[in-house]
Amino acid sequence: MVEVEYDTMKPHIAVLPSPGMGHIIPLFELAKYLVVHHNCHVSFLNITTEASAAQTHLLRSPACTLLPPGLQVIDLPPVDISALVSEETLVLTRLSIIVQESLKSDLKSVLTELGKLQALVIDFFCTQAFEICRELSIPTYTFCTTSTAFLSFALYLPTLDREVECEFVDLLESIQVPDCAPVRIEDLLDQVRNRKIDEYKWMLLHLSRLPMATGIFLNLWEDLEPKSLKAIREHSFYKQIPTPPIHVIGPLIKQDEVPMTEMDAECLAWLDKQPLDSVLFIALGSGGTLTAAQLTELAWGLELSRQRFILVVRKPTDTSASGTFFNVGGDFNDPKAYLPEGFLERTKGVGLVIPSWVPQVMVLRHASTGAFISHCGWNSILESISHGVPMITWPLYAEQRMNATMLVEEVGVAIKLSTGGQEKGIMGREVIERVIRVVMEGDKGKMMRDRARELKDSADKALNFGTGSSYKSLSCVVQEWKAHIS
Ligand code: UDP
Repeated sequence: MVEVEYDTMKPHIAVLPSPGMGHIIPLFELAKYLVVHHNCHVSFLNITTEASAAQTHLLRSPACTLLPPGLQVIDLPPVDISALVSEETLVLTRLSIIVQESLKSDLKSVLTELGKLQALVIDFFCTQAFEICRELSIPTYTFCTTSTAFLSFALYLPTLDREVECEFVDLLESIQVPDCAPVRIEDLLDQVRNRKIDEYKWMLLHLSRLPMATGIFLNLWEDLEPKSLKAIREHSFYKQIPTPPIHVIGPLIKQDEVPMTEMDAECLAWLDKQPLDSVLFIALGSGGTLTAAQLTELAWGLELSRQRFILVVRKPTDTSASGTFFNVGGDFNDPKAYLPEGFLERTKGVGLVIPSWVPQVMVLRHASTGAFISHCGWNSILESISHGVPMITWPLYAEQRMNATMLVEEVGVAIKLSTGGQEKGIMGREVIERVIRVVMEGDKGKMMRDRARELKDSADKALNFGTGSSYKSLSCVVQEWKAHIS
């Protein structure tokens, strides 16, 4: 099943992301980076059960033939989970069941066939791999697909679970994670807001297994979250867990979008014609969806602001803020059906409306892009800052509210628009218009842009070949792997 031919003098690493583009994209970048910059051979394990169109496009399009030599994508065949899930099953539960069943049926045989591996790198939600790897004596590293602030909360959650009896959402004060910024109750991620349901149980299970890792990779750089990094490295709480060694190796972000679709090319050609920093980009990650009422207000807010924009739209849904998590990229419906009547005609030339998916990094990299309304998924944050683009935060699900607060209050590259998910009510068009103007026209926007550019420079420096802190951090781990080639 597995075809391998590789140089046995190079470290051979397997990389295993959980489903979801926010997990697959950064782990795929890590895989490429290890091959291109650190002379490793990498087998990227692709869980194909319920794969989205965007996932298949990324990993299985003809562009895959352009993969650097030394990187191979290996499919874990689809498994039948129909008896274990229903329409009502929530995202993390569904994702964890997919991972559990895929790994149960295939991981051991795939890893065995690959021969001697120096390490397996997994993400947060593939922790069932720990037992299999222990049996096969393969060191297992966790790649954290989000912030240090979240990692510190994650390491603290098992303690919180033991010490707090009530629901966390009923606590009267913010949660004081050792030596980090307190986590406000309203910012708590969805999966810990009700401790009685499966979502919480899965989250607690995965997070309480973090200490089983040989090391933890963080996809950021030293200057982004110095306070939380210092806490995790130095505070006695994390030492006594004990927290595995932390390796700060980012920002590893998507580079190019190949092959480009006709729509992608049109979008970039349109951007070429716009003035510097003049376009507001709106995209809500891979899973983000709005209610019909909220999408109407957003469209009106945009129109009233009279700014140039690129709006990525998806069919609205009233049932979930992460409505396209498992099927993004395949939903090219007609936005006319759900945007306010006449919106497309009235904004013609000023704005571009694109259904479902755009090459986000290419848009953020473009000199015409001036700001980004983002749902604050970690990859979107890294991509925005790495291109010096300030953000307007519109968190929807998962840990995005925590990320948004951090960007506004600690990092200084964003302004808050909304505090949260669907239950918080509708954000009105006037508020949206006002915040857009503040960022696109005002001094506040300029200050945030300057700060984003300052951080962009420090991110570039961190990745510098041979000398950057992130480069060196990953290099040290690779040296350890090399030392174990026998
Ligand atoms: N993305 C994209 N085009 C889109 C929407 C998303 O290329 O229209 C990419 C984006 O660049 C990022 C990833 O999908 O790399 C989304 O990850 P993030 O962590 O921001 O959010 P999630 O999807 O996990 O909520």
